[in-house]
Amino acid sequence: MSGRFVDLRSDTLSLPTEAMRTAIADAPLGDDQYGEDRLTIEFEQKAAELVGKEAALLVLSGTMGNLVAAMTHSRPGQEVIVGDDTHFYNAEVAGYARVAGLACRPLPSGPQGLDPAAVEAAIRPGSSTHRPTTGLIIVENTNNRGGGTVVTLERMQQLSDVAARHAVPVHIDGARIFEAAVARGVGPDDLCMWGDSVTFCLTKGLSAPLGAALAGSGDFIAAARRNRQMIGGGMRQSGIIAAAGLVALDSMVDRLAVDARHARTLAEGIASVEGLTVDLERVQTNMVYVDVSGTGFSAETVLQSLRELNVMALSTAPYTIRLCTYQGIDEADIGYAVSAFREIAARGFRPDGINERNQIHTYT
Ligand SMILES: *Cc1c(COP(=O)(O)O)cnc(C)c1O
Repeated sequence: MSGRFVDLRSDTLSLPTEAMRTAIADAPLGDDQYGEDRLTIEFEQKAAELVGKEAALLVLSGTMGNLVAAMTHSRPGQEVIVGDDTHFYNAEVAGYARVAGLACRPLPSGPQGLDPAAVEAAIRPGSSTHRPTTGLIIVENTNNRGGGTVVTLERMQQLSDVAARHAVPVHIDGARIFEAAVARGVGPDDLCMWGDSVTFCLTKGLSAPLGAALAGSGDFIAAARRNRQMIGGGMRQSGIIAAAGLVALDSMVDRLAVDARHARTLAEGIASVEGLTVDLERVQTNMVYVDVSGTGFSAETVLQSLRELNVMALSTAPYTIRLCTYQGIDEADIGYAVSAFREIAARGFRPDGINERNQIHTYT
């Protein structure tokens, strides 16, 4: 075994490219709150154009983009319809409640995303004296916990139709919308036309060090700009972020196909190991979810065994681990990771110093 170290916990581990570092160093800067940061303006125009919207806003993170979107689309006291496995509902510290004054109406979701009929049934009309009204529907694409799966154009359109019938806006949490577009060979604008607004991240497959974009109509973004300011997201020389963001949009989108190919190779390799199960149909972009229950060990234990061979992944449930590919992970890394899985299987998946009895107590 070489000195290789393969960290597949998340695509957020991707580091800025040399071109990004140079663009940051050379960035002409101004004060964005005076409308004088040229690169920020350029980035916002480019971001809007790519996803087919009138305007966009540079935000510090996907979480900030989603929160600002929720605040801008709705009024406090309203309800947001969202998948129960989504980042918005599970991983944004309930900012929708504390900051935006909203309630969530989580619906069962899965690899295909929200079910349009279930969404329609959950929409609450404004005619009741007692019930909260539905202020927003959020669609996550790709669906991270579903497996990095793509919510198809057809499904997006159906959800949009339902929303339009009830005059409820749709926000797309497109943290990885470019992964979805590349996987399906469609433009990101084709997917985003079925939402009133969209957030996408610069820091995942696109490898920028910081930032995300929120896009929508001109009026929506003007209102969103005020809400971003309210939560402390107004920036000054944000050109240092926009500079890397522009490189990301110009040169990092098409290469997402490489990450998807690596994920497929990884998934097939892992699926061939006895005791490990991968639903290969769900491997559509840069993620691989592995069911380790067949090993007799918990995800944490399997991760510990892998860690001893210098491979890292993430546990997302007691018997599930996630691996993510990104720029910086090459074919040799993928080959190494697969061989590490084979090796821990040959050792019975048990890490040094752990015996089976300890394990039985871990997750029962
Ligand atoms: C990462 C992620 C976000 C949030 O992005 P941050 O930049 O980490 O705040 C939102 N939604 C999904 C689906 C994500 O994977």
